Amino acid sequence: MVSECIFCKIARVSNREIIYENNNFLSVLDISPAIKGHSLIISKKHFKTILDMPSTLGAELLDCIKKTSLKLMESEKAEGFNIANNSFDCAGQIVDHFHLHILPRKKNDGMSLNLRKK
Ligand code: 5GP
Ligand code: ZN
Repeated sequence: MVSECIFCKIARVSNREIIYENNNFLSVLDISPAIKGHSLIISKKHFKTILDMPSTLGAELLDCIKKTSLKLMESEKAEGFNIANNSFDCAGQIVDHFHLHILPRKKNDGMSLNLRKK
């Protein structure tokens, strides 16, 4: 038996842990947070990466990013946030279902999201 994609399951089984949702996206806390409030925006339909997603979903994705980030900034008393996406294995994608990471940030929070070459 082929096991169901974990993010398809989250999208199918709606639960009270959802931070925000619209017709095509939802956000939930990451099960293994890099920092408090670390959340994921997940497409309700299965797309492996952003490249598989119809561009017509762009406005709804932006809506979910903005609403989720604002809620997290409020709940975590954060001063800012990072948005991250890993596309394909070599870029660190572990779950093969499109998602964005939202990381609420505060000054001196000890988190490092270093985009510079080693
Ligand atoms: P990526 O594919 O971008 O490397 O990251 C996948 C993310 O999904 C990880 O941060 C991991 O902690 C998170 N994750 C994996 N399985 C689950 C799950 O069942 N529930 C939730 N909420 N997050 C998960
Ligand atoms: Zn899926």
